Amino acid sequence: MYVLDASAFINLSELFEGEFLTTPEVVKELKDPKSKALLEAKDVKVVGPKKEFIDVIKEKAGKTGDILSEADVSVLALALEKRATLVTDDYSIQNLCDELGIPFKRASERGIKKKFIRRKCCPNCGKFFEGEKCPLCGAKLVPKVVRVEDLRGPDRA
Ligand SMILES: [Zn+2]
Repeated sequence: MYVLDASAFINLSELFEGEFLTTPEVVKELKDPKSKALLEAKDVKVVGPKKEFIDVIKEKAGKTGDILSEADVSVLALALEKRATLVTDDYSIQNLCDELGIPFKRASERGIKKKFIRRKCCPNCGKFFEGEKCPLCGAKLVPKVVRVEDLRGPDRA
């Protein structure tokens, strides 16, 4: 079973074999004729995730510092709830999949898996520290992306 996000509808030229789900939030984002045709042609089921799973995703996204839209949260929650594979080319979503142990599949073969390297940062002082609180002002430290790594690594013959 697969959950499709908006990037999957945009980048997939055709659907492979399987059962497909998406969320009402994603359907709202589909504006181009190709995406709409894909939605209708393959009988993609439109399902809203349960609130408890949405809450899990929102909490995790807050911790990792990933900025997610309502549609992003909805597909992650649905994939988690249905134990489905998420089809997406969105790096933030792939990153959350890694964090949550949700299997994912890229829609576009050109996609390269990225790993987001984060460090804890004070939102007031803008400096990086270890631990939970800023030793200078006492504010709660928040994760900040400092580097993006290509997980594919150098090509080997
Ligand atoms: Zn501070």
